Amino acid sequence: MQGNQNLQVRLLAKTLTTVVPFLLLAAPLWAQGAGARRPPGFLEIWLLPRVWVGAIFCLIGLVLLMRSSVTRNLRLAMLVVIFFVFGIVSILPLGQFARGMSVHPSPICTMTRPFQFMNAGRAVPVVFISIAVSVALLTIVGNKLFCGWACPIGAIQEAFHRIPVSKRLKVKLPFWITNSIRVILFVVFLVVVFSLGTSIYDYFNPFHFFHWSFELLPVAALLVALVAGVFIFRPFCYLVCPLGLFTWVLEHLSLVRVKVKKDACTECNVCIKKSPCPAVPAILEGRRSRPDCHACGRCIEVCPEDALHFRV
Ligand code: SF4
Ligand code: SF4
Repeated sequence: MQGNQNLQVRLLAKTLTTVVPFLLLAAPLWAQGAGARRPPGFLEIWLLPRVWVGAIFCLIGLVLLMRSSVTRNLRLAMLVVIFFVFGIVSILPLGQFARGMSVHPSPICTMTRPFQFMNAGRAVPVVFISIAVSVALLTIVGNKLFCGWACPIGAIQEAFHRIPVSKRLKVKLPFWITNSIRVILFVVFLVVVFSLGTSIYDYFNPFHFFHWSFELLPVAALLVALVAGVFIFRPFCYLVCPLGLFTWVLEHLSLVRVKVKKDACTECNVCIKKSPCPAVPAILEGRRSRPDCHACGRCIEVCPEDALHFRV
């Protein structure tokens, strides 16, 4: 066990010593790129730092999960790093690189602004389509890699869920209830956007916190998500986020995802008890459709029979 933990620490150290210098080297190059005035094209948007840095984090997550190397401590360390890189780097003095790391458009805006443009009779800017396609590709490759390994709001909620409170207070809401609320919100959004032109999500979009202007609504939305997150795993993702809904639909096409080796499983249900999400029972039953899996690796780590794997 000790040897395994040392291996995890070495793996994390290796990852950070590769990624951090890469980011530091890339920052001045991006700073020099300032001054481009024309709107970037579809593929040029993938050269924005937050897109390719996000892809690197998803790749790291994919490799760690496929090697069954994600431990509880490693995951917590990664959550802190994800929040720092995708939530805070944008306000550091790193010039164009920092601007390219800003949460703009936010995951929620990526899903909602196109409908507002359509309602206004205007062309949808390519940035929304390009970012949505990049998230879709990551999801099709490896489950909710984007939500689990590159979203700062997801990361900080998951980190808050680690705050120890009585087990009786940690609630797993039935997925049909949380998903119905998420779908109803999106339908209401569509009705409102095509009648009034406004987005209901603008009233509770915690990603707007990363504008760092400390406006009341985003601060309140983030605080509610974090307090609820102590008791419920990723409440904003399961109950509200339209990008979470989008990636949940696409999860059904994912090439790599958590799978159970039936002949190794002793049906001890340790994975169900120790995992924070509502997805594990459906995975054990081999259902194709299942609740969102945020690729946290917990069920894989706790299985005493090594019956769960993140694989094709
Ligand atoms: S912990 Fe492993 S052996 Fe036990 S039910 Fe889950 S997959 Fe099966
Ligand atoms: S099924 Fe749940 S516990 Fe397992 S990796 Fe996905 S989110 Fe984590």
